[in-house]
Amino acid sequence: MTENRTSRTYQNYIGGVWCDSVSGQLYPVVNPAHNTQVIGQFQASLPQDADNAIAAAGDAASGWASTPAPQRGAILYRALDIMARRAEELARAITLEEGKPIADAAGEVKRAMNIIEYAAGEGRRLFGYTTPSELPDTVAYTVKRPIGVVAIITPWNFPLAIPAWKIAPALVCGNTLVYKPASATPLSAVKLVEIFEEAGLPAGVLNLVTGPGASVGNTLVEDERVGGISFTGSTEIGTAITARGSELLKKVQCEMGGKNAAIILNDADLDKAVPGVVQGAFGSTGQRCTATSRAIVEDGIYNEFMESLMAQTKALTIGDGMDASKDVAPLASRDQLDTVLEYIGIGTEEGARLTFGGHQLRGGEFDEGYYVEPTIFTEVKTDMRIAREEIFGPVLCVFRASDLQEAVRISNDVDFGLSSSVYTRDLVQAHEYINTAKTGMVHVNAPTLGGEVHMPFGGLGASGTGQREQGTEGFDFFTETISVYIDHSAGAKERSRFI
Ligand code: NDP
Repeated sequence: MTENRTSRTYQNYIGGVWCDSVSGQLYPVVNPAHNTQVIGQFQASLPQDADNAIAAAGDAASGWASTPAPQRGAILYRALDIMARRAEELARAITLEEGKPIADAAGEVKRAMNIIEYAAGEGRRLFGYTTPSELPDTVAYTVKRPIGVVAIITPWNFPLAIPAWKIAPALVCGNTLVYKPASATPLSAVKLVEIFEEAGLPAGVLNLVTGPGASVGNTLVEDERVGGISFTGSTEIGTAITARGSELLKKVQCEMGGKNAAIILNDADLDKAVPGVVQGAFGSTGQRCTATSRAIVEDGIYNEFMESLMAQTKALTIGDGMDASKDVAPLASRDQLDTVLEYIGIGTEEGARLTFGGHQLRGGEFDEGYYVEPTIFTEVKTDMRIAREEIFGPVLCVFRASDLQEAVRISNDVDFGLSSSVYTRDLVQAHEYINTAKTGMVHVNAPTLGGEVHMPFGGLGASGTGQREQGTEGFDFFTETISVYIDHSAGAKERSRFI
């Protein structure tokens, strides 16, 4: 590694060299549990840095594209080994900069490892297909080619797993990358890039530029040398990137959050449903795009569900995510704290009943962090803002429904469509739900969370645009499919005049 840093100062990585921004400026990142603790100084980059990174990625593009895919996969396998060795350090970095409980951070590291393993193996697949031609003595088949230079723009809520699930497939498909992590969480990004560097990735294949989305990120979106953009973050920015990227004829993939509902029917197993809703709503402090932000409960089980929900929510312990005994950690930033508190105020003003929590935690260690109590609203109406907008915090809205059909109407009555779940023992009702849910991912008797790396991840409507991430679709996004026809006949022959 080309090391050139002072203590607690982290650099960009461009063309295989760790380097300072041309701005000469740094910005601090603080620990959301102890906001006087600066965990590092990072490069406050300028568009010129993004430009340099695009040039480096462009220079490396043909060499990497012509490296056999199994060899690209072999580098990913080495990255996987290094990540396993550094797993504990990575989990601590995630908790330090994002705040989530250390067990959730360890789960995130595992998730990142799973996708790298999956992508590495894909180096020996990346299948095209062959098909009989309509012409004699002709072979017809498809091959996959990389897009070229791709921009990876990521959020702060999964600072390791989301970049990994974009970067690993993009690399094995033969693309060269410029990676701009969220400004709030650049430490995990630096460590991830260090791992790929140590694994033997050639210079220029993966470039890291930290700094503001509005300037550095926007430069990546606008630059004509960038052929693809993979983004996760807010619907507002994702929608703008989709529009602009499409205008510039780029391949664009945006994953943009949700307003996910869990439906609990009268025959649900509450021993599954209540912990599932508690984990979905308050795990990772509600800062997941797949978080459960609505529970829709059938009348006959409502009182029993609520009693158990309140008891299990009350039992949650809150504190610094580094303390393994804590279930709920601080929000990731002052901005997140302000947003969540504002939504709690909006919910109260709209007439929803604040049934549990709803306050910022103060006093002692809480004064140094961005803590909000797990919060439950009942008597929520579907036209309220808290029922429709993504809050991205530990806030759950509970609705009552008279039957499955009403529950589905409530569940589908939002612009988002990422994930959903239904708790029932009845296969007929479960399948009716699966067939009518307007979400990209549907769970039965399990929380709205997560998913597996070899299954597609993504949503409908305001939750996403472009091809799904992960699963085989994820590799389709990072490649162009080329159709090849080979005429191996001896002489001239009659050809179709159709196209
Ligand atoms: P943003 O959409 O602003 O940020 C996501 C990423 O995009 C960051 O790397 C950001 O950089 C970058 N970015 C910002 N503006 C631009 C731009 N004009 N061009 C290119 N890149 C840009 O999300 P926030 O971090 O502000 O979070 C706001 C809300 O978004 C959350 O409260 C939540 O509701 C939702 N969200 C959803 C996520 C999901 O998983 N789908 C993840 C995170 C947030 P920078 O950090 O420098 O601004």
